[in-house]
Amino acid sequence: MNIVLLGPPGAGKGTQASVLSQEYGFLHISTGDMLREAVKKGTPVGKQAKAYMDKGELVPDNIVINIVTERISQKDANCGFLLDGFPRNKKQADQFDQALSKKDKKIDMVLYFKTSPEVSIKRLSGRRVCANCGANFHIETMPAKIKGTCDYCHGPLVHRKDDQRETVENRLVVYKKETKYLIGYYEDKGILKEVSGDFDVEKLFEEIKKLFAKEGLRGAG
Ligand code: AMP
Repeated sequence: MNIVLLGPPGAGKGTQASVLSQEYGFLHISTGDMLREAVKKGTPVGKQAKAYMDKGELVPDNIVINIVTERISQKDANCGFLLDGFPRNKKQADQFDQALSKKDKKIDMVLYFKTSPEVSIKRLSGRRVCANCGANFHIETMPAKIKGTCDYCHGPLVHRKDDQRETVENRLVVYKKETKYLIGYYEDKGILKEVSGDFDVEKLFEEIKKLFAKEGLRGAG
């Protein structure tokens, strides 16, 4: 089963993608994580992407389409993938559909995380990320045991540049302008399922598990 997680920044897609991939064995593909890794390593893609990411703008379509198409061509994507943060506009969605059909694959379900802007802003502006292992924390809802230090690897926690208020607001504008369109796009294809991104992590996970069970998907626990 191949699934797309759709919703605004701060909807909790990344967190759910990581628990869902553990529970169901999906490959988690996050374009945001892949791009941040490329920036960190200073690769040619990272060098091109950085300025867009810092401003909360979309990285050019051809770059992201290439990295995703390349990733789903690898063997470990054959058991099903969860796409988090892609596609983000019509061009990406169209080109991705074409690339999948060439490989006899398709998107089976799109989970839309309907989320209020206040919740998105609060989540992102309070988020802290480990600069070393990438683990996520939140200053109010999921604080680290020792302030500023990762619980898992003791790396330093940072406030991502694109999680700062001004950039968050721009990311939401970009979402409305480019990505929201995809709700109708996938609804028309009959594969859209809606959940509430306003729920906390556990409640949302339970809701998604119920929805997956109705679709015949079984998890590990
Ligand atoms: P995310 O972690 O998914 O919010 O992504 C962080 C940033 O990476 C975004 O604000 C964009 O600059 C860039 N990015 C991630 N995914 C895409 C995509 N599918 N298309 C264009 N830019 C993307």
